[in-house]
Formats: sequence, structure tokens, C-alpha cells
Amino acid sequence: MLFDFRLDTPAEGLVDITNEVSEAVKESGVYEGICVIYCPHTTAAITINENADPDVKTDFVMGMGKSFPDLAQFRHAEGNSDAHIKSSTVGASETVIISKGKLLLGTWQDIYFCEFDGPRTRKFYVKIMGD
Ligand code: ZN
Repeated sequence: MLFDFRLDTPAEGLVDITNEVSEAVKESGVYEGICVIYCPHTTAAITINENADPDVKTDFVMGMGKSFPDLAQFRHAEGNSDAHIKSSTVGASETVIISKGKLLLGTWQDIYFCEFDGPRTRKFYVKIMGD
């Protein structure tokens, strides 16, 4: 079963999409299976990270900026090479196990859509397989 979602993103940051993904799992009726969360963009990504302290999201964005700064030497005319590099580094998808009808996430884990070149209206897909 394939679900598609749209979301409006900030200039740069992590948007928690765990509720949307959990609802898709519920709607699918799958009890045991696999869930793939996929981002079809080249300056955004999907990741799993801490859900307790919001400073983790802030530090993530700052750390990515320090690790992959926007360099004057970049040639890409659109001027967002740093966002392309961050997108590939974090990755376009995550896979989560579905067990007993629920996402098998750790207590402190949530699923995030990572925006590196917003604000934009973005899409992501959730593919659910099982049973
Ligand atoms: Zn570009």
C-alpha cells in the first residue's frame, strides 16, 4: 500500500512526520511488516532521531551547516550545493519494522523530514508491506 503526503517546510529544519507515518500504518491494517518512508527531493531527506529534547533538532541543523557550509567555490548555478550534499549524506529514505500493527521505534525515536533548502511545499511517500 502506498501513501503520499504533502508538507510545508521551514527554511531549514526537521519536521516530525511520525504521526502521519503511524496513521498510514494503522490505515493499511498491516500487523507484521515493513514501512519505507521516502523523500523524492534532492535537497531534503528522511531521518530518525531523538524526540525528547527539541534542541537536538536545532543542533542537527547547526551541525550540518558547520559540516557542509555553502562554499564560494561551488559551481552549481542554483546556488544550493550545500543542500544537495546534506540530502545525500542524510539519505532519501528510512525503513522501520512494523510489529503488532505499530512502528517499532525506540522510546526516544521519531521520524523526521529534513528540509535543507526551504521553505517549500514538499512530498514524501510511505510504502507499507506485510502480512
Ligand atoms: Zn540545486
